[in-house]
Amino acid sequence: MLKQSQRNQWRGVLHEWADVLDVTDASTVVTLGEGGTPLIESKALSQMTDARVLVKFEGLNPTGSFKDRGMTVAVSRAIDKGAKAIACASTGNTSAAAAAYAAAAGIQAIVLVPEGKIAMGKLAQSVVHGARIVQVRGNFDDCLEISKELAEQYPVHLVNSVNDDRIEGQKTAALEIVDVLGDAPDLHLIPVGNAGNITSYWRGYSLAETSGMATKRPRMLGFQAAGAAPIVRGEVVREPDTVATAIRIGNPASWQQALDARDESGGSITAIGDADILKAQRLLASSTGVFVEPASAISVAGLLERHAAGDIPAGATVTLTVTGHGLKDAQWGLKREDGSDAQPESADADTAQVAQLLGLA
Ligand SMILES: *Cc1c(COP(=O)(O)O)cnc(C)c1O
Repeated sequence: MLKQSQRNQWRGVLHEWADVLDVTDASTVVTLGEGGTPLIESKALSQMTDARVLVKFEGLNPTGSFKDRGMTVAVSRAIDKGAKAIACASTGNTSAAAAAYAAAAGIQAIVLVPEGKIAMGKLAQSVVHGARIVQVRGNFDDCLEISKELAEQYPVHLVNSVNDDRIEGQKTAALEIVDVLGDAPDLHLIPVGNAGNITSYWRGYSLAETSGMATKRPRMLGFQAAGAAPIVRGEVVREPDTVATAIRIGNPASWQQALDARDESGGSITAIGDADILKAQRLLASSTGVFVEPASAISVAGLLERHAAGDIPAGATVTLTVTGHGLKDAQWGLKREDGSDAQPESADADTAQVAQLLGLA
């Protein structure tokens, strides 16, 4: 006899973290059940680095990236302020999240994306959720400027990470890690684009320490793509360029907060080349079973780079945020190491022939 399960469904970050996000009975909650993502131990990465490596798989959020954690808060609060439309600039994932949460709330999403520079899966999400999409002939930084001006001059509510509700929602990922581990990790590795997420994690880890949930805060190690590394270089990058489109940003909105997280934690922000990013994407998928988009794989590439530099102490507990799902930008999964297209072999509908092809016969 199968018995009724006592397990409860995860209710999304606004309900699960109601106390830290100041949610009351009067608060609007627009949720798709985001958050509560698994922290997956990677035996392969642990062995390679002589540490205990755990991967926070944020690609398992409802729209396939961590952006959902902030969007549930931003859209819920926008509704409480009477908003009928939200607007954002996006490299793809923010627009996918904005479109989905606006659909759930019954309001209009307006998304500005750099023309030709967002992954197909992300564009499809914005279309299918009914967003008004404008492809801007410019880069992300141009889109963000326009979004801010639209929100200043017209009745639309800005939901980019310059909106602090986004940062607030995203900090719950750090709280979940502390909750699962029983304390903060020694090191936390994370991609850096517009730098909202590293800001959020640092805020979350700081809250965990001051509230007594954790006894310490981790060193924060951030990573930017070599062709889009303004914080590493200390100057705005006019024409950012990388296969990791989600972090193709030349002038991060939360630049100073990223520097604060780095310096207060005794951490670093390092640049990683595209070839190493794509190699790390394959490594994580084939060794750990986790398929992430290129921007997320930079955490793994960064881990190997920092290990080679002697910056990962033996036996340390190391958590990595992998920010978005690999299916969003599936073209990279179809490439081999040497850049050629992966071509599955073919056979007739004949067992003997298939067995021979596989070298079983
Ligand atoms: C948004 C995003 C990032 C970068 O996060 P920031 O908060 O902009 O630094 C990294 N990876 C993915 C998949 C993203 O969607």
